[in-house]
Amino acid sequence: MRTKYILALDQGTTSSRAILFDDRGQVVSMAKKEFRQLYPRSGWVEHDPLEIWSSQMSVISEATARAGIEGRDIVALGITNQRETAVIWDRHTGKPVYNAIVWQDRRTADICDGLINDGLDGLIQSRTGLVPDAYFSATKIRWIIDNIPGVKQKATEGDLCFGTVDSWLLWKLTGGPGKGIHATDVSNASRTMLYNINTLEWDDELHKLFNIPRKLMPEVRSCSEIYGMTDSGVTGFTVPVAGIAGDQQASLFGQLCVDEGMVKNTYGTGCFMILNTGSSPVMSKNKLLTTIAWQVGDEIVYGLEGSVFIAGAAVQWLRDGLGIIPDSPSSEALALTVEDNGGVYFVPALSGLGAPWWDPHARGTITGITRGTTKGHFARAALESIAFQVRDVLIAMETDFGRGFSEIRVDGGASANNLLLQFQSDILGAEVIRPAVMETTALGAAYLAGLAIGFWDSISELKKHWSPDRVFSPAMDKSTVETHIRNWQQALKKAMSPER
Ligand code: ADP
Repeated sequence: MRTKYILALDQGTTSSRAILFDDRGQVVSMAKKEFRQLYPRSGWVEHDPLEIWSSQMSVISEATARAGIEGRDIVALGITNQRETAVIWDRHTGKPVYNAIVWQDRRTADICDGLINDGLDGLIQSRTGLVPDAYFSATKIRWIIDNIPGVKQKATEGDLCFGTVDSWLLWKLTGGPGKGIHATDVSNASRTMLYNINTLEWDDELHKLFNIPRKLMPEVRSCSEIYGMTDSGVTGFTVPVAGIAGDQQASLFGQLCVDEGMVKNTYGTGCFMILNTGSSPVMSKNKLLTTIAWQVGDEIVYGLEGSVFIAGAAVQWLRDGLGIIPDSPSSEALALTVEDNGGVYFVPALSGLGAPWWDPHARGTITGITRGTTKGHFARAALESIAFQVRDVLIAMETDFGRGFSEIRVDGGASANNLLLQFQSDILGAEVIRPAVMETTALGAAYLAGLAIGFWDSISELKKHWSPDRVFSPAMDKSTVETHIRNWQQALKKAMSPER
């Protein structure tokens, strides 16, 4: 019998990737293509949806050709995507009415401030699990309707489709105008600020509040089912599209954090943590987000999410701002030139502070510098700052969830740094586990697609694939940990804006 594969599309913020996985969840082939970031005005971030599509198509061809795999060897396709980014297109012509407005785009921040001033944040949180913010899709959709000529009328008449990037790709893959499937999955729907995460329906009241016609919205389906078949005229082969999840939720699934109480952290430019809270949503009292992690079969799993804005970016600042390292991985060797941080603490509030502090006016601060301070101390303080910020979010999660956790699973570019992960384990007093397969986001989408078509039988079968590359266990004595945390908290106070 010929070997069969699952194709995962990982449509990220800066690049589109395609990865082929075999039946043991191992990467067989991968291709990646970056696309343009458009910044038409300060605070605006856009992508061209047609460029997202063409880059995604070209990496599919490249990944399959590189592995010498034909369409008939692929049994299913899974999609994972940058979340919240909003695309609106004409269902008859397939043409987008405007560029995709990216999750990072801040043009609708004033609308969200207005919602908070009107006291609507409680209602929005209780329905969607989210804190009103320009980050989510709702106000981006509103902006396109209000500002692009002709959109309002067409949207009301049902000529247009809204989708997050997964929907856009699904519609194109399944044949576009006249044929394309207009659907999304619960994990992406839960990031729009229009989806009721309790009733599992688009929320009528929120649609009225944002003045967004229901006719624009995709059908919401589970994360693991056959949404439709790819159109051979489009892709050159016909396979079921059978798995969809937003990137952070897909990474939680790819890490097999499938039991209540399991948590993952992705160390990238920023850090993204999600805690699996099981079958009921936990509403945060600490400004974390409540979200749908996934739905497989009838089972809905909820998550509590928190993020840190500047993590790996603090290391980039050592490289670009200070010029003390040639590249990010060199931060580890430089940090190892000193025994400890020598009392230096760095709060990298380079664009304010995110969860759980939410202080947009905080500024980056370095404390404890003496004549003995060297570049090595700066490198160590930068790496340790990532771990301190992660600890602050995880403590907020533990508080909301009402219980602690004994391990975290990690991925992302900066998780290659052993010094960082050991320090993380030390100050958390928990095991930090780096898996053997680091492509957890794409793997999550592949697992969801494979489960839907019976390529894998069950989540318990998937658990057998998971293996650690390395486990970091706490090794620092208690009093040193306490001193570190006290000093970090003092540095944090200095970084925060005076009015707090
Ligand atoms: P993203 O998906 O957010 O672009 P990645 O997961 O590719 O990010 O990770 C890139 C980030 O990780 C960069 O900010 C970089 O500075 C940091 N990084 C990469 N390798 C290392 C390393 N060995 N040590 C510390 N930081 C690293």
